[in-house]
Amino acid sequence: EPTRISPDTHGLVASQISDHALNVLQRLHDQGYAAFLVGGCVRDLLRGMRPKDFDVVTDAKPEQVRSLFRHARIIGRRFRIVHVIFGHDMIEVTTFRGGDEDGVRRSDQGRILRDNVFGSIDEDVWRRDFACNALYYNFANAEIVDYVQGWQDIETGHLRIIGNPVTRYQEDPVRMLRAARFMAKLGFTLTGDSVSAIQECRDLLKSIAPARLFDESIKIFQGGYAWAAFLKLRELDLLGYLFPGLDNLLNRDYDRISRLVERVLVGTDERVGHQLPVNPAFMLAGLLWADLSRRREHWLHQRVDSDVAFALAMDEVIESTVKQVAIPRRLTDLMRVIWALQPTLEQAAQGMSMGIAMTELKDQQKHLLAHAWFRAALDFLCLRSEIGEVSPDICQFWRQYAPERDMDSGETVPTHLPE
Ligand code: ATP
Ligand code: MG
Repeated sequence: EPTRISPDTHGLVASQISDHALNVLQRLHDQGYAAFLVGGCVRDLLRGMRPKDFDVVTDAKPEQVRSLFRHARIIGRRFRIVHVIFGHDMIEVTTFRGGDEDGVRRSDQGRILRDNVFGSIDEDVWRRDFACNALYYNFANAEIVDYVQGWQDIETGHLRIIGNPVTRYQEDPVRMLRAARFMAKLGFTLTGDSVSAIQECRDLLKSIAPARLFDESIKIFQGGYAWAAFLKLRELDLLGYLFPGLDNLLNRDYDRISRLVERVLVGTDERVGHQLPVNPAFMLAGLLWADLSRRREHWLHQRVDSDVAFALAMDEVIESTVKQVAIPRRLTDLMRVIWALQPTLEQAAQGMSMGIAMTELKDQQKHLLAHAWFRAALDFLCLRSEIGEVSPDICQFWRQYAPERDMDSGETVPTHLPE
């Protein structure tokens, strides 16, 4: 029997729920369907945080949900869910899942019909990952329904797998990465057996599709808690399943290698905290820089020309990373630009201090400044100067020409030098 937590106790009020979510809940309720909020939004509201999005669950079938809204579409094959669209906002509506939890989400077993077996709330709850993510807010009476003692976990700051951790990680190994992410995001402690089971299951992450690991990486590193998540991934020894090259280098020389990673991730977190847009290419360029440098060194030792060594190293890093984490081409292209501009910026600035004729240099600067990604590359150069990889003078030199707008704002940068 679930615990039912009354509004007086939980204190969650309708005004904290987005208008669009309320609209969906109300409509479902009016038609006689069950209408609940579930997951991250309930958890975050209880912690006094603004949820990223609101997820609704109901006993209405996807077709029934769709028919209630003007702008709604059914998406997904294995998991059919309804997206109700409100302009730029979207509310995800899921039908309670049924069936037993054993093996239903295993990726290498092809399409599993049981995934679209619908059920009731007391079947749905066992399919969720962590107890703190499995609270249901009932729109009909404002009660929170708790089958798994998630309420206590939120009060005491614990992250606990529902059911047997080994089984649940085997079912979906990505839950291990989610554990690291929620530890970082919520500051919760992963409970003992949910930690120890990772030891046994972590290698299963090798079987996850690279596209899914990319999506998960974005959630981990673009949510405003990237540095904390990085530390948790290291603590749980999971980073190697995302970025093996970086993980190896950290094992060899943590203090040196982690410095740039820290700068990049803390910087990303600050931007997210200030609601500034972030571009994943910048963050990824930072995470992979040490691996790139190592590979460049290797080619230089082979007496390869320095431009060629750099190009080969870029190819290698990207090629080996995308096997694991499918970074899309539009991002790897940008990463290459940020990287490739590093030696260019260093050399051009040095040329200046060595007294190359100013006119000649201005042409070169014009060319660089015209580059849409100049600012990103410069920001990266300055991070490198902060950790002592580049002279601060070089960074200063370029700063005076830096356009106001940066890459993430999407504004065009000036195509010529300021007068
Ligand atoms: P965030 O606020 O970071 O989005 P969230 O808890 O909402 O966190 P989502 O990935 O949006 O996380 O998933 C919504 C809910 O769906 C979760 O709270 C959880 O109940 C369930 N869920 C998501 N992914 C899984 C999974 N891999 N295994 C089991 N349940 C999951
Ligand atoms: Mg969510």
